[in-house]
Amino acid sequence: MEPCNSCPRRCNADRTCSEGWCRSDDRIHVSSLVIHKGEEPPVSGDKGIVNLFFPSCNMQCLYCQNWEISRLGTQGTIMTLDEVCDAIIDLLPMSEGNLGFVSPSHFVPQMVMIVYELHKRGHYPTIVYNTNGYDLPETIRSLEDIVDVWLPDFKYSDDDLAHELSDVPQYSKYALSSLKEMVHQVGTTLQTDDRGIARRGIILRHLVLPGFVENSIGVLKLISENLSPNLHISLMSQYYPPQSMDLSPPESGGVSRPPYGGSGGGGLSESEPETSKCCKAETLKPWNFEPRIATAGRARRRQTLNRPISSSEYNRVVSAFHDFGFTRGWLQDLKSQKNFRPDFSKDNPFNKEPQ
Ligand code: SF4
Repeated sequence: MEPCNSCPRRCNADRTCSEGWCRSDDRIHVSSLVIHKGEEPPVSGDKGIVNLFFPSCNMQCLYCQNWEISRLGTQGTIMTLDEVCDAIIDLLPMSEGNLGFVSPSHFVPQMVMIVYELHKRGHYPTIVYNTNGYDLPETIRSLEDIVDVWLPDFKYSDDDLAHELSDVPQYSKYALSSLKEMVHQVGTTLQTDDRGIARRGIILRHLVLPGFVENSIGVLKLISENLSPNLHISLMSQYYPPQSMDLSPPESGGVSRPPYGGSGGGGLSESEPETSKCCKAETLKPWNFEPRIATAGRARRRQTLNRPISSSEYNRVVSAFHDFGFTRGWLQDLKSQKNFRPDFSKDNPFNKEPQ
């Protein structure tokens, strides 16, 4: 693996012996590998998609709905290439013949290795790239012959909000340029098979956040003006405040992370998880934690995340959806707030039955 510059963080980290901002090394880490029936209808179909969830993330959303596996440094299970491909091949016959990589932006080389190994073994599932949207367009370009269906989020039009809630700089710029590359590759028409399963194309997702309707309307405006109103949009109302969320105003010693290779000194706070052991663990540099800028205004804004979205908020975004000329996609019932809560302590995080 070359020094890692896969995502907009551009850490230039040598992941064979250290980790970048995402706290991930060069091995295959898997949080969950399951058949998932809760994606959009052309993705899940009746039988479901084989979803491989990677741990950790190159964003850190305060409100992450997959918080159990997305925190920095979460390791999942380390699997060999053979082990992960064996497990995928076992699951594929029970699925719609598609394989989704969830939060793949910081595990792109591992994802490519898995797909090539599956091809080598004679398996060609439809590959779905299920991303938070914080990707580099050049990385997306490099995946043109690998990915069949793009399933990106477009979370923010408001970059200040992105920085505040997800610790991510310049989100809208990178998300938009990556989306343009995806559309360049597959066009705006979702190609489905005779059973209605997506085999090529793009479905764009947006999760409406409580208190931030203008951000959502801004996202729809950006898509319609810079991409196309013909795209399939999945407009999600399923937000719920995760139990992990701490909305208290950050104090000195908060968790904002400097760019990779930050100025040394400082060190990991006691509450930070240990970095993973890799071949030269002793070469890992300590992170220097800097205080987040805390203001009363920010604390107030964040407090709105402590509730589900209201029907009037969702209806305003749905009106904007129609006003900007979108006609394709999926709207969600507000009841979905109760139905889409994964529990990653279970073998199947989406199975509501006791195990
Ligand atoms: S955050 Fe991770 S994936 Fe992104 S450039 Fe840094 S090491 Fe690579």
